[in-house]
Amino acid sequence: MANEIEHEYTNEIVCPYCGESNNESYEYADDDCGEIDCGYCERSFNYIVHMTIKYSTETDCSAEGKFHAWQGPYRVFEYEDRTDVWCYIRKCLNCQREDYFWQEATLEML
Ligand SMILES: [Zn+2]
Ligand SMILES: [Zn+2]
Repeated sequence: MANEIEHEYTNEIVCPYCGESNNESYEYADDDCGEIDCGYCERSFNYIVHMTIKYSTETDCSAEGKFHAWQGPYRVFEYEDRTDVWCYIRKCLNCQREDYFWQEATLEML
């Protein structure tokens, strides 16, 4: 008998045995694949996560001979457990370019 359950390339994880969809599928999105128990029929099955990648482009100010309109820098995260060095990010309002750089945490930035 043909399997009538739609369980491939679905928006949620769908049990291939009973067709029950898991409404907490997003919790598994960080993994490539794994094993899961159906909350309904309690059988275990394997899942595979398919990622969709999208790209965006923006023109670059410097390529057009313009200055970047930097916003920031903003402190983004600590480097391991050091408190004297921080990672900062600045972003251009025109071309959306982002620059990351490390700097001593001497000044309290934005
Ligand atoms: Zn099931
Ligand atoms: Zn720019």
